[in-house]
Amino acid sequence: MIESLVKVTLETDVICYLHTKQPESYEIIKKLKKKSENEGILLNDTTDVHYDIGQSFAYLYHLKNAEDFQNDSFRRIDDLPSFSSRCHRVACHQELSTGKADAALVWFDVGTAVVLHSCGKHFCIPGDYGILCETEVTLYDFSRIFGNFLCFLNRHTSKISIFEWRCDEGSHRYRLFAYLQVDHEISLCVCHVDLYFGITVYCTLDNGEFRKYSVTMMSYLPGQSIILKQDKKLIQSIIDLQIHGDFIVTLDETKKNLKLYRFLNHLSLVMDICVFNVVTQYCIVSSHLLIIESNGTLSIYEISAFSELKFETTQVQHDVVKVHAVKSSFLIVNGTTRELFSIENKRSLKLKKIGTLRFECRSVLTTVMPAQSKLFILSDDYSTLAIWHANKTYMIQYVSTLLDSSVLINNIHAVSAGIVLHCHDQQIFLWKLDDSNTRTFLGRARHFQTKNNRIVLYDGSVNKLIVYDTTQMLRGTIQVPNCCDALCFSEDTEYLFVIDREESMLLMYQVNNGKCLEKLFIENLSAQIQTMDDRLVLLSNDEMLLISIAKQHTSYVEKNDHVPSNGCALFEEQYWICCHKKRPWVRISTDNDSSNISTTLASSSDLPLTFDNDYLNILNELNKLADVHLPCVDGHPYVDFVKKLRTMSDGTQILIYTPCRLKTIFQRLLYFDFIDQDI
Ligand SMILES: [Zn+2]
Ligand SMILES: [Zn+2]
Ligand SMILES: [Zn+2]
Ligand SMILES: [Zn+2]
Repeated sequence: MIESLVKVTLETDVICYLHTKQPESYEIIKKLKKKSENEGILLNDTTDVHYDIGQSFAYLYHLKNAEDFQNDSFRRIDDLPSFSSRCHRVACHQELSTGKADAALVWFDVGTAVVLHSCGKHFCIPGDYGILCETEVTLYDFSRIFGNFLCFLNRHTSKISIFEWRCDEGSHRYRLFAYLQVDHEISLCVCHVDLYFGITVYCTLDNGEFRKYSVTMMSYLPGQSIILKQDKKLIQSIIDLQIHGDFIVTLDETKKNLKLYRFLNHLSLVMDICVFNVVTQYCIVSSHLLIIESNGTLSIYEISAFSELKFETTQVQHDVVKVHAVKSSFLIVNGTTRELFSIENKRSLKLKKIGTLRFECRSVLTTVMPAQSKLFILSDDYSTLAIWHANKTYMIQYVSTLLDSSVLINNIHAVSAGIVLHCHDQQIFLWKLDDSNTRTFLGRARHFQTKNNRIVLYDGSVNKLIVYDTTQMLRGTIQVPNCCDALCFSEDTEYLFVIDREESMLLMYQVNNGKCLEKLFIENLSAQIQTMDDRLVLLSNDEMLLISIAKQHTSYVEKNDHVPSNGCALFEEQYWICCHKKRPWVRISTDNDSSNISTTLASSSDLPLTFDNDYLNILNELNKLADVHLPCVDGHPYVDFVKKLRTMSDGTQILIYTPCRLKTIFQRLLYFDFIDQDI
């Protein structure tokens, strides 16, 4: 078999076929005298196709059959649709039975696209197209259950048609997999067929615009979704959004306008405050709102439509003061004077001094654990932690930390198992406050969140979410398809929500098994996401978007196996490419007489069920894995790195990361066994 074939046409009209023996070393294997005006294109590494524009026949020149130059080594194929345009070669990802890479030639005649497959037969796809577009296919483990894809553009009608075609032992069939009608003239377009995101088309328009269309989403997104319901939209230019108890608090672009919303049966504006300076901190305790402004003003308002000012002091240095809410009090830590104050939420508000801290705390590393009504303050040299218990008002407890000051701590966050240290270089540690006093490295995180006893980190270098359950001592990873720009847990920490701004996607994962439950397209998402009870608060196009989460506890396989669902394909399918699987095939009759090609529309029911069976088998395997390897599994059949501990000759062990692409589900199973043994 020839490894690599090069065809050179000399000025003397002699065609040389060269074969690469080694890099930069060529050997001439065949020489042909070119017939006048012949066009030629290599179909694969053994076949060259010669044809003339305007003619309806072609010669297939098979290199492995030709001992030397002979006219009869050309095989003439007659009765082809006329070569009105030049041919293009397309690679097939559907493999030949020999396991060899496969290819086809495509050209356009009036009212038809012609596909000449390397099996020697051709078929026609009727329609006016004119331009063959580049198509990239990423189907991973699922590629064997799909055929080959072709993307055609008709510049006159601005219509893009994507076809899937298959060759099963010489019998061809094709189907219109997806199409897109654009409202503008298209100059160029490329198509991406992806397992997760379905069909995406990128095109440039003659007015200079560059556009991206998710054709799958456009085809299958319903007008009204059945699972996620959009409750309410409020138009406001918002740059910051937080949830405090029952309230949603927003800040506008100037950071001088603060609005408080409450959600009961619908979202309502409770309070609207405009201040003169930038709001640097705010905090809510039952019916009072505390605001610190950049000029050092601390004010407390009663939460009502009248926003009555109840307390004010101008004595705070806004950048060295931290305010927290514990039980029914505001707690204020002053990093300069080391003083601790409380303001109790009573009829008359008073600043009450609790005590003075024994250590320097200009970096005001503070956090509260609301469930235990505790405030934690870490000293500037990290050697001491002060704990103030709201239940024992005047007592400050001091604990020696054994923390070294080699890492720079940016922030601390209390969880039930201890304190999460957010350090310089995006490093996250869990520091246990029990007798062990251990500090565990959790990973590097571009974004992270703590809720109750769970911690989630987003590691951007491998596009993974790493989830820790600190009480059950579990760790799991979830592969995200693209990237994560913001994340948050649901109230019960059973679900994770991820925003991918590039793809304008909101993704929902089940923490226990890492499954992606929902993918929702929302235009212009901001990197802001918060949950309250069964609702998600998001920002899109500068508007606040409230989405209710309907509880649904059917597992993914059940949905596909037993329950006949009327749901939207986008929500049913984890792999969006499968949304298109019900499109009807057109089968080309396999008459020996190739001139007598007739097309019949095959109904979906009489087609082989291989697609659905294969699809369900792979899915079942994935779900079995999910059940065995709790709490989370990598839901992606494409694995970036395999970790391995290797013992060196001197007995030391080093951790090795090997980039690895796993092709089949069975190798994937091995991968998991391997990890369990070695790590
Ligand atoms: Zn074929
Ligand atoms: Zn932090
Ligand atoms: Zn992917
Ligand atoms: Zn992004």
